[in-house]
Amino acid sequence: MSDQSKGKTIEFTDAGKVKPTDYPIIPFIEGDGVGPDIWAAAQPVFDSAVEIAYGSSKKIEWKEVYAGEKAQQKLGSYLPDESLKEIETHQIAIKGPLTTPVGGGFRSLNVALRQIFDLYACVRPIRYFDGVPAPVKHPEKINMVVFRENTEDVYSGIEFESGSSECAKLISFLKNELGKDQLRDDAGIGIKPISPFGSKRLIERAIQYAIENNRSSVTLVHKGNIMKFTEGAFAKWGYELAQEKYADQVITEAQLYDDYNGKAPAGKIVIKDRIADAMFQQALLRPDEYDVLATTNLNGDYLSDALIAQVGGLGLGPGANMGKTLAIFEATHGTAPKYTGMDKVNPGSVILSGVMMLEHLGWNQAATLITNALQKTISNKTVTYDLERQMDGAKLLKCSEFGQTIVQNMR
Ligand code: NAP
Repeated sequence: MSDQSKGKTIEFTDAGKVKPTDYPIIPFIEGDGVGPDIWAAAQPVFDSAVEIAYGSSKKIEWKEVYAGEKAQQKLGSYLPDESLKEIETHQIAIKGPLTTPVGGGFRSLNVALRQIFDLYACVRPIRYFDGVPAPVKHPEKINMVVFRENTEDVYSGIEFESGSSECAKLISFLKNELGKDQLRDDAGIGIKPISPFGSKRLIERAIQYAIENNRSSVTLVHKGNIMKFTEGAFAKWGYELAQEKYADQVITEAQLYDDYNGKAPAGKIVIKDRIADAMFQQALLRPDEYDVLATTNLNGDYLSDALIAQVGGLGLGPGANMGKTLAIFEATHGTAPKYTGMDKVNPGSVILSGVMMLEHLGWNQAATLITNALQKTISNKTVTYDLERQMDGAKLLKCSEFGQTIVQNMR
């Protein structure tokens, strides 16, 4: 029997965890712009790590599915139904960046994927790799995992253009029925829905992650001092959820000081909250006091990009969009169109997204091999242009060479 025919769709436990698997079929989307370059560099890294860790007893069976410009050219649609079906069938995928088509009927392909599959948690681990040029004095103090709510907030797409008849209707309703007289007649309006359902399932995921990974705290990030019934409610529902479901495993920050003299008992996770603007300051001034962050959609978007910049930039920022069971792992940067086809950019983002994917499969040994080899490659100052231009005495590698060097450093 060939390896090819061993491929299986992953299965889940009742708790939504991936069951142990040896030959998973994993759909991949190369992506647009620099996508094909970073994917070509990354796939051999994943395959080598799995082979070194497990010999022939485990192997990923890759299955290309199309989205973005390649899909438009081959199948006449930016997001073909057959691609969506493959992802749904296999419950997992990894992707490069996708161009947002102008006039293609989508606000953004990424947002469409999140909505179609209800991928409610955007998970972005942010850590420092020793030797990466960073703009802050102590980037090594940053080790956070951001859980950003992905389906609600001002991203939900309920927006009306200034001057449109819909907007005029809404403004009239708000003024006449709800007494919001301060509204200007020429305003455009966006709606910010935040629900207990959406907030609690995201925060539950963040707390569950903290428990399973021995993390010390979960911080609820919000702008509730101003937006009480949306952002403020997010934090309130977070504390409620923690009490309802994890009373034995968590304490609040207030309890930490009132009852435990500022020192959390072993095994207890501290639930705290921060106003979003203060959190940006804290991320710069006292990053080592923060661990897992649970955020609303817009705050999480800004905060995760700011944090990744603090540790050295987008080329090394991994991410995953996760639903109840389905997960799509993705490079978090865009298509960097000016570098298309130049074999130049840093494939680290999609490689580290693959590390998250291997951990999701429970293949931690392969994941660790990649993380260590990436660290060694950076420590040896053999890096792509984005890092080379900021490092003294570094050797400039192409995108493909960076991948090959990681593979060599694994062996
Ligand atoms: P971008 O593609 O992320 O590129 C902005 C800059 O970031 C690049 O010019 C480059 O900086 C740096 N960069 C990005 N990826 C890098 C990598 N792998 N290695 C090293 N440096 C990297 O952002 P954009 O130009 O705003 O967006 C371009 C397109 O991507 C748009 O169509 C947008 O909609 C789309 N997009 C897609 C996704 C996604 O699919 N997840 C996410 C964001 C944007 P230097 O110029 O300094 O070298």
